Amino acid sequence: MKIQNNSPVRVRFAPSPTGHLHIGSLRTALFNWLFARHYKGAFLIRIEDTDFVRSTKEYEASLMESLKWSGIVTDDLVMHQSARLDIYKKVADDLVSAGKAYKCFCTQEELQKKRERAEAAGKNYQYDRTCRKFEHSVDHEGKPYVIRFKVVIDTPEFIFEDKIKGAVSIPSEQIDDYVILRSDGTVTYNFAVVIDDQEMQITHIIRGEEHLFNTPKQILLYQALGHSIPIFAHIPLILGPSGQKLSKRDGATSVVEYKKEGYLSSALCNYLVRLGWAHGDQEIFSQEEMIEYFSLDHIHASGAKFDIEKLKWVNASYIKKLTVEEILNIIKNDLEKDLKAITSDWTDVQRAACIALYQDRVATLKELYDYILKVYFLPVAYDWENLKKLIAKDAVIILQLLQQEFGNLEFEKNKIQEKVKAFCKLNDYKMSDITQLLRFAMIGAVSGPSVFEMMAILGKQEVQKRISMVIAEM
Ligand code: GLU
Repeated sequence: MKIQNNSPVRVRFAPSPTGHLHIGSLRTALFNWLFARHYKGAFLIRIEDTDFVRSTKEYEASLMESLKWSGIVTDDLVMHQSARLDIYKKVADDLVSAGKAYKCFCTQEELQKKRERAEAAGKNYQYDRTCRKFEHSVDHEGKPYVIRFKVVIDTPEFIFEDKIKGAVSIPSEQIDDYVILRSDGTVTYNFAVVIDDQEMQITHIIRGEEHLFNTPKQILLYQALGHSIPIFAHIPLILGPSGQKLSKRDGATSVVEYKKEGYLSSALCNYLVRLGWAHGDQEIFSQEEMIEYFSLDHIHASGAKFDIEKLKWVNASYIKKLTVEEILNIIKNDLEKDLKAITSDWTDVQRAACIALYQDRVATLKELYDYILKVYFLPVAYDWENLKKLIAKDAVIILQLLQQEFGNLEFEKNKIQEKVKAFCKLNDYKMSDITQLLRFAMIGAVSGPSVFEMMAILGKQEVQKRISMVIAEM
């Protein structure tokens, strides 16, 4: 696609390195990346690190790592705002010289008083343009100053078109002469973003809707600088269960937390792309499909509720499709657990069989990992409560008899099963009671996957050991 001025699509993701990547930001990055891939354009990354107090290199590394983990890579060098302070200063000075911005000498105390007065009168505080009247050559005997942009709008409402929200109208009186350069020489977001997006030749600005009210300020700057205005698309918020913006109170919000919990990057992206965007009622998409179908036209205008149960469902369906090698690798890379080394007494066949035993039953790889360890290691605790509901009085004798039965049995899943079946028939026990008892002996819990499979994986010696162990506890 070419936009009006015939330039190919160029989009960007512009995180501030003041924390780990939020899942909402990952969705924004993903929408941008898919849009670029769909239109065979460019996807760029810009680090907005001008808040020198809160920005850190560690968070930047973490953001980049999370993006890479999600398969989102930039098509060009990463731009850093911190390296561009001289450029912003020059543009600000030029705007002052052109009479489109001005030096403001009002002190913090003066402004604070004005703000308090406005609030006491129940009004929204707006800068009262006191310093607009000064010639730009005035320097007020070296007093510190900020540079403010001169906002000129001659209609009561400022209206702009948003690809997702439609026509957005903001009362002009709410847009005041905002600061573009602070007295310490640092730049404000609304100023730097315009200069950078222009320099990077960004055609579409796809970002979170919290920036909707910044957009008029940015459009006015584009106009003042004589630049063409990109297309804006503001993505609705991700909401928590209460209907408010998703926050830490609602659970994990950063991508690293999901990674450590054993969510697959492909599943997380699949879940996030459906959060606010739809292609019919399809839920599971390959990356190729996402790229092919993605467009801004099918993004909903209102907020999308985060649903952890659905994310689990998507993750589970991706886990089902993995090979054993893939599972081991992801657990090693994402969970930083070397399952092969931890279960080193097992053969590859035992390990693969144990993975297969649980693979279709788990929502995350962390769950899978925990289950495998439960089988591999001797039980550390037994769920007596649930056992008692089943089979309290005969448990010891049953286990002793079964232990004898297993004595010279060829220890293969079907053979074990037949043996237990015959034992139940002969002694009039319910098969399900006995399998639960055996499972209890193996892993300390009555419920779980096929106990015959589990016993075959563990091998006769280990099974006998676990039966003796639980008998000793009874
Ligand atoms: N640094 C801003 C943020 O993280 C970027 C906003 C934008 O994309 O313009 O919200």
